[in-house]
Amino acid sequence: MTHVPHEAAHLHARHQAVLPSWLSLYYERPLELTHGEGRHVWDAEGNRYLDFFGGILTTMTAHALPEVTKAVSEQAGRILHTSTLYLSRPMVELAERIAALSGIPDARVFFTTSGTEANDTALLLATTHRRSNQILAMRNSYHGRSFSTVGITGNQSWSPTSLSPLQTLYVHGGVRSRGPYAELGDREFIAACVADLEDMLQQTAGGVAALIAEPVQGVGGFTAPPDGLYAAFREVLARHDILWISDEVQTGWGRTGDHFWGWQAHAENGPPDLLTFAKGIGNGMSVGGVVARAEVMNSLTANSISTFGGSPVTMAAGLANLNHLLEHDLQGNARRVGGLLIERLRAVAAGLDIVREVRGRGLMIGLELVRPGTDEPSPEAASLVLEAARERGLLIGKGGQGGASLRIAPPMSLTVAEAEEGAGLLAEALRTAQAVLAGA
Ligand code: PMP
Repeated sequence: MTHVPHEAAHLHARHQAVLPSWLSLYYERPLELTHGEGRHVWDAEGNRYLDFFGGILTTMTAHALPEVTKAVSEQAGRILHTSTLYLSRPMVELAERIAALSGIPDARVFFTTSGTEANDTALLLATTHRRSNQILAMRNSYHGRSFSTVGITGNQSWSPTSLSPLQTLYVHGGVRSRGPYAELGDREFIAACVADLEDMLQQTAGGVAALIAEPVQGVGGFTAPPDGLYAAFREVLARHDILWISDEVQTGWGRTGDHFWGWQAHAENGPPDLLTFAKGIGNGMSVGGVVARAEVMNSLTANSISTFGGSPVTMAAGLANLNHLLEHDLQGNARRVGGLLIERLRAVAAGLDIVREVRGRGLMIGLELVRPGTDEPSPEAASLVLEAARERGLLIGKGGQGGASLRIAPPMSLTVAEAEEGAGLLAEALRTAQAVLAGA
């Protein structure tokens, strides 16, 4: 059954009347999505969209993946009762699989229901292990919306409070397209960031517990430092006995193409001490978690329990989704199809004034937009493109400081034909936005 347009407006009014004002919605006429299949979703008016954002990278493999649907409904028909007080086969199985894939020796896995809770737990573990509440975080980062995770989030448009239970020191390295380091080559940039880190540590009294970083900044606009930055950091951190937490909530599961985890682009000096994951692994079901060396994971000595973390239905979804990902080499697909998409988008951008940069890895692609003929970031351009793409049947995301970047992260089973089609639709949307801005 298709709905008439005024029903979506009515739902929007009801949303505004009962939900928080700070819960962001995309689009002037927000979308109500009703179902999906493969790389497509449909709205309540019956319109079909090619999905280049997947929620926010939450649809990892494909919408309504039959294996996941089957696993979820079978598990839901058996036992819904949930808590970590009882043994759970799907939880143990998924933990074994993730521990083996993590690259962390003697790994232990704790499941959560979100990325926020995963990072919160990682911070709890690191601060307890090191008996310190000092944390190093990256400028322009995003780590969640709980009290501790907003407190360390560097991207101020997503950090609603300046109060924090943690003492946070912000490090350079997440973004370099602007600012004092913009002109440096990779090696000089890494050396400058390491010097900044050393300097900061020298001036900090007491021990720092951990550095938390996204290998490619997600909400920050899909910006990646040069390969090896975190390996260089790791050498400094090891000297100071500081733990490295890799926030893989967006970069995990092969999305960046060349690597299964984002940290593997920085692997010379070993794996991180802790890794956090969420989003895609449940393909829409709430699965998040932390992986840590046993010594760090087991530094909590009081009893603990999670009622919903690792619940059987979500674990069944995670297992089926992970199997599909590995069996179909979707990491390889992300590398190949993502590479092609980046090439196409760079060709489109070459003829346009509003695109300053097309950057990315695999199926994690960012476009930074500026006011035509200037170097000024343009959130207005990003909003115009988002709307124009929607009108053409393409869903994309926004991000970056002030929201001046576009984010592209389709389900990882994206085909070449869909990549070509999406690139074409996005090119039209970019041209439309440029024309509007040039006329303004
Ligand atoms: N870390 C990163 C890198 C994220 O992108 C996000 C979500 N955008 C989070 C943590 C928080 O995850 P969640 O929304 O599942 O709490």
